[in-house]
Amino acid sequence: MNNSISNNINKLLSEIPDYVKIVAVSKTKSIELINKAYNSGHRSFGENKIQEMVRKCESLPNDIEWHMIGHVQRNKVKYMASFVSLIHGVDSQKLLIEINKQAKRYNRIIKCLLQVHISKEKSKFGLNRNNLDSIIEFSKSLNNIDVCGLMGMATFTDDLSIIDDEFKSLKNLYDLYKTNNNFSILSMGMSNDYSIAINNGSNMIRIGSKIFGNRI
Ligand SMILES: *Cc1c(COP(=O)(O)O)cnc(C)c1O
Repeated sequence: MNNSISNNINKLLSEIPDYVKIVAVSKTKSIELINKAYNSGHRSFGENKIQEMVRKCESLPNDIEWHMIGHVQRNKVKYMASFVSLIHGVDSQKLLIEINKQAKRYNRIIKCLLQVHISKEKSKFGLNRNNLDSIIEFSKSLNNIDVCGLMGMATFTDDLSIIDDEFKSLKNLYDLYKTNNNFSILSMGMSNDYSIAINNGSNMIRIGSKIFGNRI
């Protein structure tokens, strides 16, 4: 039991190609459990609530890379601007402007991914693919952010062909924009669909339950 977290990570690492980075999604999980993953050598963790991430960052070693994977409220960007390593869920110009402003205060360049709405589920979050052009162009006017790729979530379904289609469509968008914009990160895939994501070109997977166990 004690070693199950490191076993889970090692098993995942043995299954996936070297170029795929694992973000261990530690939302709702304790400092103690995160420390177990840390002690096994893992350094990248993802949280979906800014305050929870700040609290954990303050109690854990400072060589951890913190990923914000959830929806970001603009008024809370300031709390994470000094340390966040990558913001996965950017889906508006207003949010980019705020991240840029807060990054500037710390003299940092904050890396961001644009979240694209690819699933069939209705959601307020994620950009419509038709808006990608304009937001990418706009982001070039901001000096303290680096838009370095795309993120997306597939429909929550047992129908693997739907998930496959959705990841394919995100990969196509990624390829379309990659060269002209120096994209290097395609964040797609979670515990239940990471193999499909990797088969479709993902190079960053966000894994929670398969590392830490189910969330209650
Ligand atoms: C919770 C969460 C994950 C991890 O989910 P698991 O199914 O536990 O792997 C990945 N990405 C996002 C955006 C999440 O909110």
